Amino acid sequence: MSADIEIDQVTKLYGTFRAVDDVSLKIQNGSFISLLGSSGAGKSTILRMIGGFELPDYGAVRIGGKDVTLLPPYSRDVNTVFQNYALFPHMNVAENVAYGLRRDGIAPEERRRRVREALDMVEMLSYAERRPTQLSGGQQQRVALARAIVKRPSVLLLDEPLGALDRKLRQQMQVELKLLQRQLGLTFVFVTHDQEEALAMSDQIAVMRHGKIEQLGGPTELYDMPSTAFVASFIGTQNFLVGARVDSTTTMRSEGGANLTVGRVVGDLQSNAQVLGAVRPENVMLSMDEPKASANRLRATVAASVMLGDTLEFILMLDGGREFMARMPRRGAELLPSGAEVWAHWEVPFFTMYPYEDLQAKPGMGGVQ
Ligand code: ADP
Ligand code: MG
Repeated sequence: MSADIEIDQVTKLYGTFRAVDDVSLKIQNGSFISLLGSSGAGKSTILRMIGGFELPDYGAVRIGGKDVTLLPPYSRDVNTVFQNYALFPHMNVAENVAYGLRRDGIAPEERRRRVREALDMVEMLSYAERRPTQLSGGQQQRVALARAIVKRPSVLLLDEPLGALDRKLRQQMQVELKLLQRQLGLTFVFVTHDQEEALAMSDQIAVMRHGKIEQLGGPTELYDMPSTAFVASFIGTQNFLVGARVDSTTTMRSEGGANLTVGRVVGDLQSNAQVLGAVRPENVMLSMDEPKASANRLRATVAASVMLGDTLEFILMLDGGREFMARMPRRGAELLPSGAEVWAHWEVPFFTMYPYEDLQAKPGMGGVQ
């Protein structure tokens, strides 16, 4: 059965506050979609409405074409792994994972096999006899994950399921989960605030902000063609320069008075509007001599050079005091002493102009200071 999920003009109010604000989203059966956004963006609320734990004030939720808006969670073919996983304290790990299968009347032999398989996947097989209280937070989270995947629902809703794991295990679980989703053809709706995690795992990413989807797209599309400065800054890293568009051209005059040329103008930009110019650190090159052939070049002073293993990162101070970053493969590059005078330059296609307002009213996020 197709389990396409459709969220149709859904709004969720808490008092007068719009936690989810007129969101529409179609999720294809068998796909992996992430809801990505900072804390309070409305991600969990959307997930809870798909799962049936929260009722929308307006709009409808459909699964496989059927309106499930008013159905309780147990009447939907979805399984949820919550952020605050609640394991049964009086059962050991294996019993916790087996619980749903037992309730579904699965025969003991198959039950044992599937429980072993699920525990193996989350690397918790050797803890099968332990009680939840004897586990760390990360281990409990993995058991909660095993408990959900063991039932093989056609839709799995995951609310930051890897949040309590340390980096190495988290990356390993990302790969395992992705493979599982592919192999079994499951639909995953995955909530995360971690853009790297979303990029690594998803077919589609919905970037959320203030209860709305700001942009929906595949990882490459979102990274290369963000539709707002907010998305541009949320996914990956950006340098932003403040300036004014010169008439209706692709030129911006920066605060420092330099004329710079963009390859892309995004959003509704009037002539001479206040704008942001954005370039990613990995597209910024450094040279000692003035690169006169480069349309985009600024003088800068090295504030710090950072060795990140395979990458070098340079934190620069522009004339005028704004911070700017350059990042390059370590091979073929050298650390520069603090205080060194350099030219930062970048190519036109890597430079984008956005409305200045894109980054305003954005509490708690890095951006233009
Ligand atoms: P996210 O998962 O993206 O961090 P949530 O969906 O949990 O965000 O919450 C979105 C907004 O709705 C937040 O501002 C949160 O404080 C608010 N909110 C969530 N649940 C409730 C609730 N039960 N009562 C009041 N406000 C809530
Ligand atoms: Mg949440």
